[in-house]
Amino acid sequence: MGSQETSVLALKKKTVTLTPKAIIHQKFGANAVYKVEEVQKSDGNECPGLNLPQKGPCLYRCSLQLPEVSVVSELCKKKKDAEQSAAEKAIEKLGINPTLSIPTAQEAGDEVVGRLSYLFSDAFYTTVHPLSGHFRAALLRKDHLYGYVPVSVLSLFDSKLINLCKCMNPKAEYNTWLVVPLILKAASRVPLLISENHLSMRRPSPYPPEVLEGIDNSNLPESICIKAVRVPCSIDEIVEPLLLNVSINEYYLDVIAQELGVTDASKVLVSRSVGKASSETRFYFCAPQSYMLNVSLESGEELTNEPEGTLNTRASYLSGQNVYGDAILASIGYTWKSTDILYEDVSLRSYYRIVINKMPDGVYKLSREAILAAELPIAFTTRSNWRGSYPRDILCTFCRQHRLSVPEIIPLENSEVPGLHKKLKLTDSREQETNGGSLAGSAAGVGGTFKCEIKIISRSQELILWCTPKESFKKQSDAIQDAALKILTWLNNYFKNPKMSVENLTTSAHEIDIQFYPRCFKEFELCLVVNNTSRLLNSDCLSDNTDSVNDSDDMSGVSLSTGSLACISYSIYLLAGDCGKELLERSEEFEFEIGSKAVFSHLEAAVTKMSVGQSVSYKAEVLSRELIMSAATDSERILSLLNSAGGCSLEYSITLLRVTEPLEERMEQALFSPPLSKQRVEFALQQIKESCAASLVDFGCGSGSLLESLLAYPTSLENVVGVDISQRSLARAAKILHTKLTIKTEAGSDQIKSAVLYDGSITTFDSRLYGFDIGTCLEVIEHMEEDQAFLFGDVVLSFFCPKVLIVSTPNFEYNVILHKSTVQGQEDDPDEKNQSQSSKFRNHDHKFEWTREQFNDWASKLAERHNYSVQFSGVGGVDGVEPGYASQIAVFRRGGDNFPENVNTSHHYNVIWDWSSSSSSSMIKDFQ
Ligand code: SAH
Ligand code: MG
Repeated sequence: MGSQETSVLALKKKTVTLTPKAIIHQKFGANAVYKVEEVQKSDGNECPGLNLPQKGPCLYRCSLQLPEVSVVSELCKKKKDAEQSAAEKAIEKLGINPTLSIPTAQEAGDEVVGRLSYLFSDAFYTTVHPLSGHFRAALLRKDHLYGYVPVSVLSLFDSKLINLCKCMNPKAEYNTWLVVPLILKAASRVPLLISENHLSMRRPSPYPPEVLEGIDNSNLPESICIKAVRVPCSIDEIVEPLLLNVSINEYYLDVIAQELGVTDASKVLVSRSVGKASSETRFYFCAPQSYMLNVSLESGEELTNEPEGTLNTRASYLSGQNVYGDAILASIGYTWKSTDILYEDVSLRSYYRIVINKMPDGVYKLSREAILAAELPIAFTTRSNWRGSYPRDILCTFCRQHRLSVPEIIPLENSEVPGLHKKLKLTDSREQETNGGSLAGSAAGVGGTFKCEIKIISRSQELILWCTPKESFKKQSDAIQDAALKILTWLNNYFKNPKMSVENLTTSAHEIDIQFYPRCFKEFELCLVVNNTSRLLNSDCLSDNTDSVNDSDDMSGVSLSTGSLACISYSIYLLAGDCGKELLERSEEFEFEIGSKAVFSHLEAAVTKMSVGQSVSYKAEVLSRELIMSAATDSERILSLLNSAGGCSLEYSITLLRVTEPLEERMEQALFSPPLSKQRVEFALQQIKESCAASLVDFGCGSGSLLESLLAYPTSLENVVGVDISQRSLARAAKILHTKLTIKTEAGSDQIKSAVLYDGSITTFDSRLYGFDIGTCLEVIEHMEEDQAFLFGDVVLSFFCPKVLIVSTPNFEYNVILHKSTVQGQEDDPDEKNQSQSSKFRNHDHKFEWTREQFNDWASKLAERHNYSVQFSGVGGVDGVEPGYASQIAVFRRGGDNFPENVNTSHHYNVIWDWSSSSSSSMIKDFQ
């Protein structure tokens, strides 16, 4: 802070021990947004009254945006002074006590008196302050209410008053009702007129005419009619819409009072705002009897605490404050922005959105506008695959919603040498299909450089939950997102299964490295009551009227494997017996990552069975009322359907628009012409031609794209085989190859005698694949752990013994170029830009990517061990030009002809599909 002390601003106020910025930071943390702009010094007229410096190129002005107010600083010579000036203005405006020395109760009491007389002064009447609106509106009140301002309003909208009262009675920090009697007590010293019921006050003298004349509300409509929502006290009664009619000549709080069944505004209490940080949406409810008794107590008497009444669970949960009896949720009032009344409709839909927005998955659903389709994904894979708000942001929203402190994020850097990229792995806690069972020990926990811990802390600084993941990440930001997601996942489960035993909760928490302290969970108590409805019932496909728009021809190249992005359009309807069918939610384009549980499971199950262009409709069980109502635009109609006797179900109608392969494929397609995959096929074709190969085995064939492409050319090949461990990919390969071969045979143009697909790991030998003319292994080894890649090398050259083996894998050094040309325009965050882009792998499923040197080393030693020769080549990029090929290739050739005859007959692979031209038929096993 030393440097700040020299600033003019700090010197001005001797009592300031914290800089204005530090005070703002204490109160608002990350919610304070400073924007500094340069103001070009023109001729000095721009800012009259300011002593412009003669030298220096420009001045700075800073705007500060806080949840409640925004302010603009004076012009300053230095950026940092402009920021301090803005902070100071905000402190003034908000009435924050800038001194650290807390006034005594006596001093505070005197200041309350001073503040009250200022609020009721002529000067205040014309300023822009939320309270001044109420003062003006009070003059619209009739008869005995004329000029009276409710104490509840005074106790709510002026932070200076509130802060002073907190000094007089620290309990007021948590119990806002305690502010009211303190204000009343001070009022007697101002002096002010107190209403008979002690619930409102006015100044004795009228405002002078010149003050009144300055007020003009002719720009307002004659009357406003806004939608609001009634939230009954009993949780069994349903929330209903309501219309508020406020005319230009009325105080809106009186109108709300009538709706609540009380005589006037003074008996209405107002909650703090709910929903969005900046909104004026609040609950309005009748002051309980005990509150009225309380405030009417003669000054000096001992005050009781909280008013007694019947707690409105839903409203209390949403506002984080006790609300009693029936409540009205409305968005109307005066703000810092304008002297006019501001209002907005609060529909049933808005109400339900506020409800679901309190849950981690609700925040995610809303950010995607896909309430009936999206789910909070279980894993953060990559930024480019994640859709919707990031886990860290969702967690911050969650904490704000539950009145907790901003989560404490503690990034940690491992002591491991970060320069050695071959040790780095992008770890991913998720079981990936392509990892299969054969790969022992996932990469989790080793090798990355960054870890992150997150603590969730209550307002009173008690530790509630602490997540300390073991996994390390290559990027700091990924470590943060991962830890945040772990917490969100656990919180979500906790809220959805409130009856879960403490043991189960603890176990599930330990699995994801979370410790929690249930005695501090009071912030969540009401949530459990409100969310007690089971949220998702099992949905299964009741009918499956598949309606093929486009036939399976379009299948080629589509592989709906883990990590692919599926893009669908969908419509979801509510079906209510005979009463009809109503649209709830639709999306023209909705993209999600396969395998990360980013959508309801029935939806993903349906999509993975589809081909591009196909449409499907199916029924699923109805979801919770909160979700349905948050989605529905025509609330009333949907509500009546939901309440209809026959029971409801949902109908999902989806079309698969396209599938985007993981990042790697997207880059390869975008940057190379022909695409890299095509270039690899051409490379293989060349080798087949040169060696006049009759038999070929594709190790790690995936969905068969290489085999399929080879079939499109006339070659010497007669027998082709593919092996992979992904059953799903194999099923797709079988479908495609079957169609292609059948067509070719019918046309009489095929030389292929047999084609077989096996399910098995290429690190295990199967004698049926012994001694082939050519073996290909394209872009596969990097999907295995490094030791497995070494094992594969030895197994293939010592047991499978192909005459020629072609192995391709990404060249790590080329990534710089790939990333340079793809990051622009992507929604990457800034900390990512600062990081070395070259540290990224191309695909989150890659366990490693080798430099040219590493690859050469591996291949040369391997060849030497097994009496093969090796040649290096590649595709994408130019030979000899840095940084080499995009995809590096090694071609191994068996030395001599005296390779051992295979005697061993071991069949470890399962035949998935077996096609033979002689029988012109095929056998498909396990083919789903
Ligand atoms: N060669 C294909 C697919 C590359 S993706 C192409 O160029 O398009 C990598 C493939 O390797 C995946 O299909 C994955 O299932 C497979 N794979 C990974 N480890 C394997 C193993 N141990 N045995 C067999 N296949 C494996
Ligand atoms: Mg790959």
